Amino acid sequence: MNEKAMFQLTYGLFVLTARTGEKDNGCIINTAGQVTAAPNRISITVSKDNLTHDMIMESGKFNLSVISERTDFELFRRFGFQSGRTADKFAGYSSCRRSGNGIYYITEGTNAYISAVTEQTIDLGTHTMFICSVEDMDLLADAPSATYAYYHSSIKPKPEKSTESGRTVWRCTVCGYVYEGEELPEDFVCPVCRHPASDFEKVIG
Ligand code: FE
Repeated sequence: MNEKAMFQLTYGLFVLTARTGEKDNGCIINTAGQVTAAPNRISITVSKDNLTHDMIMESGKFNLSVISERTDFELFRRFGFQSGRTADKFAGYSSCRRSGNGIYYITEGTNAYISAVTEQTIDLGTHTMFICSVEDMDLLADAPSATYAYYHSSIKPKPEKSTESGRTVWRCTVCGYVYEGEELPEDFVCPVCRHPASDFEKVIG
């Protein structure tokens, strides 16, 4: 069995936003797709670690903003690499607007948004899959949608080239952060994206 076959699946990238009470929040997901056309339904799958997950469980509704190739790493830093439990992700952020359901959608670096309500939830252990009906949607720009492969090739920061040859560094495969040192501590957590040591690769300069 060649597990690399999984890498041949393509994924889009999305900002998933929700609102409960006065709290606005959002996270990045790569797990959205249309599942039926009539009625028009989409599915999203969200980690239970995300505050946005709990907010959608509570409110039953969300917006999905489709990230385009005209985005930048800051969008991922803001919505993907910090937790809504400790940060207000919309603080000082103006590239958003509220749709008819009262929830923000993202207007910069995106090409469409979809407003949906939850019909069914499926408990998948670490994640919940939500089957949802589409209530509203609009196009925002004509830039192509970003894929997960495009994120890795063109959006995440390129590691700085080492001037000293023979030096070993560890690079975060999610965000590109570089840790300098021969050995990466087992309990190391990426300071940018919060991913663990297992998501780092050894790079020999
Ligand atoms: Fe990282």
